[in-house]
Amino acid sequence: MDSWQKILKDSISDAKTLSEKFDIPLDQMQKMEKHFAIKITPYYLSLIKEKGDPLYKQVVPDIRELEDGELFEDPLGEDQDSPVNNIVHRYPDRCLFLVSPVCASYCRFCTRKRKVGDPSKISMRYIDEGIQYIGDHPEIRDVIISGGDPLLLPDDKIDYILRNLRSIPHIQILRIGTRVPCFLPQRITPELVQVLKQYHPLFMNVHFNHPDELAPPAVEALGRLADAGIPLGNQTVLLKGVNDDPEVMKKLMQKLLQARVRPYYIYQADMVFGTEHFRTRVEKGLEIIKALRGWTSGLAVPHFVIDAPGGGGKIPLLPEYVQSITDKEVILRNYEGKRYVYNQPRSARRRKTVRESHFAAMELEEIF
Ligand SMILES: *Cc1c(COP(=O)(O)O)cnc(C)c1O
Ligand code: SF4
Repeated sequence: MDSWQKILKDSISDAKTLSEKFDIPLDQMQKMEKHFAIKITPYYLSLIKEKGDPLYKQVVPDIRELEDGELFEDPLGEDQDSPVNNIVHRYPDRCLFLVSPVCASYCRFCTRKRKVGDPSKISMRYIDEGIQYIGDHPEIRDVIISGGDPLLLPDDKIDYILRNLRSIPHIQILRIGTRVPCFLPQRITPELVQVLKQYHPLFMNVHFNHPDELAPPAVEALGRLADAGIPLGNQTVLLKGVNDDPEVMKKLMQKLLQARVRPYYIYQADMVFGTEHFRTRVEKGLEIIKALRGWTSGLAVPHFVIDAPGGGGKIPLLPEYVQSITDKEVILRNYEGKRYVYNQPRSARRRKTVRESHFAAMELEEIF
């Protein structure tokens, strides 16, 4: 057994141990365990400083998970965009391929908790079917390998999936979505890296939500991936009590860059059942972007998006930098709130008939 498998095996994954460790009534913990599987690696547990801190909140169940009735099992409507098991094909030229039902630890806010942790719902039996679907659809040029966590599969399974996808002529890029560098960085072994680097261009999106997660083992694991030429991006979920604070987010983004990871998305928390206590108002995300843009490296500023409920895809949100647009000029506000004017090209400034300007206004509506 590799050392990462041993660490994974020593994870806390039962209500009893966790309730004793954090002094939570066992009956509560047992109810929550039924609602969504529990798992915390000893490594991630060691990063928790105290009960209720931002890392604790992400992985230790909270009684409020059982409370609400207004949210959804499948808030993004993924199941309706699923032509075959394990594939979500929503966008024209790319698809999600779910290859693993398990994660190194379970995030209480997981969007896919209806499936994650349950091997019958993301079954390995459907891997070949997924590869077949991708091969049969020449419009797909980008595959996002996800789950669950793909990097919990054994090296030879990962190799099998990547090799088969790479052999499809219309696949230009491969991406892996994983939280392993955060929860179980020991999994990023030299042997795994050796497998991954054979299948370039291969991108990886990791998932860090708090600066304390970038402990030395995680930073070293990210370094091994970056050294293998894998461009690294990060996805963060905006979570109340975890990272809903511009200073925390700025520190997170700066630490990611130091670990050679480019911040990619901040997600507004999805409307997933049992996660009401994690949701912030949307304005919080805008406030965070405003506190980043201009105030720190542009490389540290991700896109803030809402994954539209019901399956509309990711929609970017920006603070109001554009005050107005006319044929003549654009009025802008910079990061400090100062006003600037950009003149439109002269050719665009001709006099317009009423009808033409009506169309110009319509175009603007379409853009925004
Ligand atoms: C997020 C997502 C993608 C990838 O979107 P990008 O904006 O290209 O990163 C693809 N398919 C689905 C279903 C997704 O949710
Ligand atoms: S690692 Fe990702 S898929 Fe797994 S529980 Fe966390 S959010 Fe869900």
